[in-house]
Amino acid sequence: MSTIEEFIEARIDIEEATARGTVQASLSWQNFTMDGELRDSDNAGTIMMCVADEDRQHIAHHDPARVLRQCTALRAILRVHRPDGDRECVGCTRNDRAGEPSFVPIGECVELRTLAAIWPDHPDFQAEWVA
Ligand SMILES: [Zn+2]
Repeated sequence: MSTIEEFIEARIDIEEATARGTVQASLSWQNFTMDGELRDSDNAGTIMMCVADEDRQHIAHHDPARVLRQCTALRAILRVHRPDGDRECVGCTRNDRAGEPSFVPIGECVELRTLAAIWPDHPDFQAEWVA
């Protein structure tokens, strides 16, 4: 069973590898409305033909370039919301009104729980991360 941060890191690794594994010349994709075609931005190849413009638009909007930017953003959040030696979230540690630090167990970090909720159907997702 993985920890919440391991779970998120593993999902990011897979999304990043999948985005980098595409075979088009460009990682940016465009919807060519007139042709019903999704092409890479270098116009080097057809990615797919798709009848529904809305579907092509959606796929183009979530092209590999965007996925990689999203992975970078998610990793930045993981660098802040990470466990210390006591498995408390470094990013969530705050001082209360009396100046005393309050600690949040890493499994209860709202930011990490929010990120983990991106993949609720994954077999390693743990229901208690939602509660
Ligand atoms: Zn946190």
